[in-house]
Amino acid sequence: MLTIERLPVLSDNYMYLVHESETGTTAAVDPPVVAPVVERLSAQGWSLDWILATHHHPDHVDGIAELKEKCGATVAGPRAERDKIPGIDVDLAQGDRFELGASTAQMIETPGHTLGHISYWFEDDKALFSADALFALGCGRVFEGTMEQMWESLAKLRELPDDTVVYSGHEYTLGNARFALTVDPDNQALKERCEEVERLRAAGEPTVPSMLGLEKATNPFLRPDDSGIRAVLGMGDDASNADVFAEIRGRKDRA
Ligand code: ZN
Ligand code: FE
Repeated sequence: MLTIERLPVLSDNYMYLVHESETGTTAAVDPPVVAPVVERLSAQGWSLDWILATHHHPDHVDGIAELKEKCGATVAGPRAERDKIPGIDVDLAQGDRFELGASTAQMIETPGHTLGHISYWFEDDKALFSADALFALGCGRVFEGTMEQMWESLAKLRELPDDTVVYSGHEYTLGNARFALTVDPDNQALKERCEEVERLRAAGEPTVPSMLGLEKATNPFLRPDDSGIRAVLGMGDDASNADVFAEIRGRKDRA
């Protein structure tokens, strides 16, 4: 059983503390800072066993070396970015299983934002750490990979069960919501979600984590096969999902 704490860090990042209660094992996911992590660990009475990295960007890894040193934790991260992330002890790739005490994550490679980006899927705990691959109502910018690659990554995440809770890497949801409405304006579930997001953000409340089932119904980056979205984009049945995804991502980049 996992207890998951969301820590807002830097300007709009989310990192996480994940505590497996049966064995008392604790991990920090994507720590860019040290002090808030140490503070929460001591408030909870947890000691840090693992640091889990999703990709090499500084806003996700800058706290790793110091935290590892301070807590004596073991660092796990993407095999393909082993050389770019300081202190990796255990490298993980597609299909690997990572054991956090009595809980197991299946590793899903989600390249596109970076070439080695990985996501951690704790199937039994219904938790997905998607970092900068899949956001609430959005997805990461395609910096290193191709649009096709990013779409394939999201298509893998879209296969996971609807009741999966998506712990993503940034509070970008309000901007994502406003953009989503421009490409999927007649989606009633999206309209309702956007109202909720506007309300939460106005109250200073987080919109992360989110449910994967709701992402499938409302996140345009998971919906390139939707006929309504295709109509808005002027794309027909002959376009591939990757083509439609690329058009949506391109519009968001220019928005
Ligand atoms: Zn990133
Ligand atoms: Fe990031």
